[in-house]
Amino acid sequence: MNNLAMDGQPAACAACEGTGIEVLPNFSTAEARICACSRRCTQCGGARYLFSRDAAGRDIARPCACALREMRVRRYNEARIPSKFANARLRPQYRDKDNERAFSMFKLLAAEFQPGHKGIVLMGEAGVGKSFLVAAFLNEIIVRHGIGAQFQDFFHLLKDLRSGYSQDRPESELIEPLVNIDVLVIDELGKGRNTPWEKDILDGIISQRYNNRKTTIFTSNYTDSRATTLVERVRSRDWNPGDGEVELRDTLQERVGSRIYSRLREMCDFVTMSGHDRREAL
Ligand SMILES: [Zn+2]
Ligand SMILES: [Zn+2]
Repeated sequence: MNNLAMDGQPAACAACEGTGIEVLPNFSTAEARICACSRRCTQCGGARYLFSRDAAGRDIARPCACALREMRVRRYNEARIPSKFANARLRPQYRDKDNERAFSMFKLLAAEFQPGHKGIVLMGEAGVGKSFLVAAFLNEIIVRHGIGAQFQDFFHLLKDLRSGYSQDRPESELIEPLVNIDVLVIDELGKGRNTPWEKDILDGIISQRYNNRKTTIFTSNYTDSRATTLVERVRSRDWNPGDGEVELRDTLQERVGSRIYSRLREMCDFVTMSGHDRREAL
């Protein structure tokens, strides 16, 4: 078969879609590596720099594309994107009527990303593909644009912080990486016990990110509407054996509290995703 595309350019490698970076599932997090098609650099012969001479006769060295690729691989691996999202990409075939608006917002954010760009709060029922979309967005900004990012599950984030504080690790070591990374994803915002301590920690992280002009993306099963938000069945406070459970329909605002919610409104655009459970299909 002819592997030249119509315009005479070599067809993009299927494994890496021409980025030179392949992403595969590994134990818990997806792992990026230099694709076989790009392991030998024909540009710099392995020197990682390209040399040229300017008008004044001075030698100028600039990093070769292969060095930038290696940096992107490192950044992807530091982002800790769950293995189940190794294949997540913002590809047209993943776009449909249920996720159209959210899909376009992430595609646009990836294309025009600048440090400090407004983030996105992506709300919707469990299983509609929110985390997949966010992981696809991270793939695009890291692999194609080299931006530093991190994927954090909200529940695990709080768990890690709790254990960090109980071991007396300094706050700077625990919080600073979360505050300084260019793009932070907090997946499943609102999940868990939702104690005052947790709300304070969350407020601290997102306020500092806001002040440092960092972009934060959230997903949540809690929405802005009682009709679509997460329904939880809990025992009432004066529960007795034999009693049933009560149905809770907290909106996102009720779940995270007004202070955090109004901060989210300032720093993010909001979008709700609906639709079928995609977990089987992906
Ligand atoms: Zn390749
Ligand atoms: Zn090179």
